[in-house]
Formats: sequence, structure tokens, C-alpha cells
Amino acid sequence: MDLGIAGRRALVCAASKGLGKASALALAREGVHLTITARGVDSLEATAEEIRKETGVSVTAVAGDITTEEGRAAALAACPDPDILVNNAGGPPPGNFRDWDRDDWIKALDANMLTAVFLIKATVDGMIGRKFGRIVNITSAQVKAATIGTLGLSTGARAGLTGFSAVVARQVAKHNVTINGLLPGPFDTDRLRATMTGASKASGRSVEDVMADRRAENPTGRFGDPAEFGAMCAFLCSTQAGYITGQNILLDGGAFPAVV
Ligand code: NAP
Repeated sequence: MDLGIAGRRALVCAASKGLGKASALALAREGVHLTITARGVDSLEATAEEIRKETGVSVTAVAGDITTEEGRAAALAACPDPDILVNNAGGPPPGNFRDWDRDDWIKALDANMLTAVFLIKATVDGMIGRKFGRIVNITSAQVKAATIGTLGLSTGARAGLTGFSAVVARQVAKHNVTINGLLPGPFDTDRLRATMTGASKASGRSVEDVMADRRAENPTGRFGDPAEFGAMCAFLCSTQAGYITGQNILLDGGAFPAVV
């Protein structure tokens, strides 16, 4: 299926690894030119080169912390008028809500709500002017189902972004600009492995045992493959997806036991 976005420009945040990288690669395979960001220069440059080599699209790598004003300014200077914006950043640490003070909350809100809010604000009017825009926020399955009790910071901040996006999506839809959330369940990325390592230390069980349990808990019996996530992101950015907006799409292997 040709997604009809060859030659478009995308800004994909936090994309040297994991779900951001998979989204960037899926877009590049459709002929979309990329600007990708991450803090670590070496892995970002390596990812940019890997994507260029495989797909032939232009990939601009902007090293920086996307959760800061400077990081966002650098990304937007490299890609001031994206047709596609994929919002992503690292998640806040887990913990007990009794231990979090105002600074912890401000950091989480900056990273997982306000960064995306300001990037949408900076890019959406250009999309409206060009009569095409696709915005995807990478959030979390936790926004739908609060199954992990230690993720209050992450879930609270991401729910704020989800609410904001729901409102703006309806304001910009008539201009062929869509805003959707992609809600990952457990995907096999470095982040997931780090979480499992933490759980292994806390429980005294091996990482492999903890991972085997987590796989078995899922209806599919496995973790998600980042490529599956990237493919969904690319579809939401397609011309064909113009009537899908204001949605929050769960990619969790059926873990959330919804009837409808
Ligand atoms: P990952 O494999 O650890 O990759 C994270 C990517 O984001 C890396 O490229 C990292 O590069 C970059 N990054 C992190 N913080 C950044 C920042 N402040 N500025 C710029 N780039 C930044 O993580 P992932 O699994 O893909 O997760 C992506 C998002 O989905 C996270 O918010 C995570 O909490 C959420 N999520 C993931 C899962 C899962 O199962 N994987 C489930 C639910 C939610 P640098 O470190 O070099 O900056």
C-alpha cells in the first residue's frame, strides 16, 4: 500500500532508538524526509546513517534534549515546517507518589506534556496553511489502563497531553490536519529491558524469568516488535488516514480487556 506521503517532511523526536526510531524508519521507507532528535550524538548519527543507507531519504540529525526550549528550538530550526510531527521523549521515573515534589512534577509535565504541546503550537499553523498535517503523540497504554501503580508521574503528564490533543484535533481537522495518540503496551526496546532489569533487582529473580512472565501475561505471549509500532505510526501519517483524528490507539497485543 502506497501511503501517499513520499517527499513529505517529518520531525520525529527522540528517535535514535526504540519506538521513535521505528517510526522514523517506517516513514523513511515511504519516502518521507526526516529530521530526527536524541540527546546522545553517536547513536543518533548511527541511526541517521542507517536510515539514509537503507531508504535514500534525507535525514538530518539534531542532537539535543527535546524537553528543553533549546532542544526544541534546534529541532525546529532544522525542520521549521514539518508535514508530520511525531512527539516522543523518554518517560519519567517510576516511584511512589508520596515521594514526588513539585520539581518532579514539573519535569514530568515538561517532558511528557508541554514539550509536545509547544511543538504542536509551533508547527500546526504551517500544516493548516499547506492543507496537510499529521501529528502523532507517542504516549503509553497506561493512559487507558492504569495497571502499573508506580507510573503516576508518567500517566498524569501523558493524560494531560491526551486531553489537550483531543481539543486541538477537533479545531484543525477541517484543514486535513490530524492529531492522534499511539499508546504502546510492552514493546521490546531498551526502555523495556531497563524496566525489567529494575523489576529483577527488586524481586531477586533473573531478568529472563521476569521477562518470560511479562511475555506470558500478554494475550499474544510476546512483546511488541518496534517495527509493528512504526508501521502503525506511518499509517496514521498517511493520506489515507485523513479521517482518523482525536483517537488514542492502543498497541498492546490485546492486554486491555475491552469488549468494544
Ligand atoms: P528507548 O528504547 O529507551 O528509546 C528512547 C529514545 O528517546 C532514544 O533514542 C533516546 O535517546 C531518546 N530520548 C530520550 N529522552 C530524550 C530527550 N529528553 N530528548 C531527546 N531524545 C530523548 O524507549 P522506547 O521504549 O522507545 O520508549 C519511547 C517512549 O514510549 C517513552 O516515553 C516510553 O516511556 C514510552 N513507552 C514505552 C513502552 C515500551 O514498552 N517500550 C511502553 C509504554 C510507553 P537519548 O537517550 O540518546 O536521548
